[in-house]
Amino acid sequence: MSDETLVLGFVVVLLVGIGLAVGSFLNVVIYRVPLGLSIVRPGSACPGCHTPIATRDNIPVLSWLVLRGRCRVCREPISPRYPSVELLNMVVWLALAWWAWQSDGLVWLLPLLLVLGSAGLALFFIDLEHHRLPDAIVLPLYPVTVAGLVLAGVMSGQWAVGSALIGGAIWVIVIGGLWLVTGGRGMGFGDVKLAPVLGVTLGWVGVSAAAVGLLVAFGTGAVVGLALMATRRAGRRTALPFGPFLLIGAAIGLWAGQAIGSAYLGLVGL
Ligand SMILES: [Zn+2]
Repeated sequence: MSDETLVLGFVVVLLVGIGLAVGSFLNVVIYRVPLGLSIVRPGSACPGCHTPIATRDNIPVLSWLVLRGRCRVCREPISPRYPSVELLNMVVWLALAWWAWQSDGLVWLLPLLLVLGSAGLALFFIDLEHHRLPDAIVLPLYPVTVAGLVLAGVMSGQWAVGSALIGGAIWVIVIGGLWLVTGGRGMGFGDVKLAPVLGVTLGWVGVSAAAVGLLVAFGTGAVVGLALMATRRAGRRTALPFGPFLLIGAAIGLWAGQAIGSAYLGLVGL
């Protein structure tokens, strides 16, 4: 085995282990932050019988499988959301690391991307369930994003400040504009507050990443919205939270934005 293979293997083991552990913490965040509870104390307990969860029953994914999705004490079912969030966070981390590794000069963006990936995962599930994006998660992302971009700039010597500002501006103008025009019905103010973080980070990667991310967000939002309307035609007028679509759009913009952007420019002959 070459040295490079060893290092790569070590990094993957690290990403899987820490990714699962952070995913486990995200479960606490997703459950407690919308209720205004502390994410530190008390330790996790079974929602059914309130027995504190022992360390051996708190191992990501494995414990849930061993206990077959039930509390050891009262046999109350434990939602499959818990192992799912842990696995998802691990997958998101591996995907981001892979992306950063094969992206020219952007490997130092990875620390910021890991934080945004995990915060995004928590926001995704909170917005789906509670229809809001809590300030307690969104606002700290502002200084974190600035710090992450400065780190990337210092370490790589490449500063994409101009395209980052353009990306941020596109996201704020479109989402903030829609929020104003619809009077907050189509778009929540939480979406407006999340927009600069996603727009600026995507813009650092490239303006087309920011533009494609935004288009994908509206595209998927429209498709899912129409599908829901079609399947429950006589149903109530449920407001669809838009945060999950912004996050899906941002992920696809990051992953494929540059490729889609240059393919489009090639198509129109630029
Ligand atoms: Zn229990």
